Amino acid sequence: MKRVFASHNLVLAHHSRNLLETEGIETEVRNQMLSSAMGELPPAECQAEVWVVNDEDEARAFAVLRRPAPAGPDWACEGCGERSGPQFTQCWRCGALRLTP
Ligand SMILES: [Zn+2]
Repeated sequence: MKRVFASHNLVLAHHSRNLLETEGIETEVRNQMLSSAMGELPPAECQAEVWVVNDEDEARAFAVLRRPAPAGPDWACEGCGERSGPQFTQCWRCGALRLTP
């Protein structure tokens, strides 16, 4: 297991995870619940973390995460109408997958 991403933003962590899973890289998100403990733990301990399950995927995972975000207009969720940036494949609000490319 190798940690390839950490952020206080859980949406970003999940976005990174989606990118990696799309590439066929097996991942695990840790510390998803810790943000509620913020204030009691040192901030660095409260970050959501994305780990690759297989160590040999680490280099590829970093390459995927460093790719520039796709350009394009925001898209509207078909479930709740929330608008998201082009880099997201899932609605941050209701979790619906993006249907239109
Ligand atoms: Zn939605």
